[in-house]
Amino acid sequence: MAKLQKIGILTSGGDAPGMNAAVRAVARKALDEGIEVVGIVGGYAGLIQDEIIDFTPRSVSNIIARGGTMLYSNRCLEFKTEEGMQTAIATCKKHGIEAIVACGGDGTFRGATDLTNRGIPTVGIPCTIDNDITATDYTIGFDSAMNTTLGMLDCLRDTCESHARCNVVEVMGRDCGQIALYTAIAAGAVAAIVPELPFDEKELIERIGKLSKEGKRSFLVVISEGVFTPDGKKYGEVLTPKIEKETGVETRFARFAHIVRGGAPSLRDRYTATRMGIKAVELLLEGKSNLVVCEIDGKIEALDINYSQVADRYFKKTLKPGNMESLTPAQQQAVKDLADKRYAELCEMYEMVKVTSK
Ligand code: ADP
Repeated sequence: MAKLQKIGILTSGGDAPGMNAAVRAVARKALDEGIEVVGIVGGYAGLIQDEIIDFTPRSVSNIIARGGTMLYSNRCLEFKTEEGMQTAIATCKKHGIEAIVACGGDGTFRGATDLTNRGIPTVGIPCTIDNDITATDYTIGFDSAMNTTLGMLDCLRDTCESHARCNVVEVMGRDCGQIALYTAIAAGAVAAIVPELPFDEKELIERIGKLSKEGKRSFLVVISEGVFTPDGKKYGEVLTPKIEKETGVETRFARFAHIVRGGAPSLRDRYTATRMGIKAVELLLEGKSNLVVCEIDGKIEALDINYSQVADRYFKKTLKPGNMESLTPAQQQAVKDLADKRYAELCEMYEMVKVTSK
């Protein structure tokens, strides 16, 4: 097998703090191995619009501490079409890009698989603040987003305590409750409400009423953005007036939204991005492809993108016909065990919030 000569790197989908650290690690490791590196600007759109920049070690100077992504990110629908895909392949050929490291979430990895299937080897690096890629314990951006969320919850807690108030706070996470659960535990919230687990509204309202009568002044209720009422309303907005009406505790609603996607990446995110970036280049050098770099029990490993996607769909109950059958029996069992493990982790955190919120 001829040695890899040139790789491309892109960031795609929702941005996450630490993407820059991943780009830097990939570029520096590849250059250290004598491989040429190009940055693809604006995610997959850069391959369609031929926006490619040559990287030297200096191209990624002074980005490790910066939020956002210096390569920019786009949601590129054209890339999902066969015509768009062929344009992308032609751009790779034109620039001699032999392999691609794609930083992003599950959509980004689906795009990477499409490239792999058309002859461009790819490795994915999981970057999303939501930590919603089931196969990996950890995604780049999660820690930073949680710390930003926590800082803002602490601020709200101060003012809730002063004025004897309750604040219902909607946090990011899409259909994944991890940001809500972790930050609720760390902020001392009275409840975390997440899409994956049932929630007892009556119990919470009674508890807030009782604790208020006993002298507790501040209440935080952390709710994931993916929790809706049966008729499609944002549940946090519906719950807020109910708490006030039924407990007499003044209750306000806050939504942190995209603020937590920005800001300087935490040490954890920079470190993990560096480890994953180096691993991605090593995998390509070993001739491997269609893999996603994962952190599993503290180790950096690689899993097949298809396996990762089926694991995701199994856990999120969005399996399509044939998904499970595309895996070996051993992989199917591993997917089931992983889903059980993830569910148990969520339940454990959920209990932790309850037990510590007296
Ligand atoms: P994320 O990677 O954060 O999940 P998206 O789902 O928006 O974000 O995906 C990012 C980009 O990946 C899309 O804009 C598109 O260019 C590409 N992509 C997503 N899904 C597919 C798919 N099924 N086939 C090919 N490309 C895809």
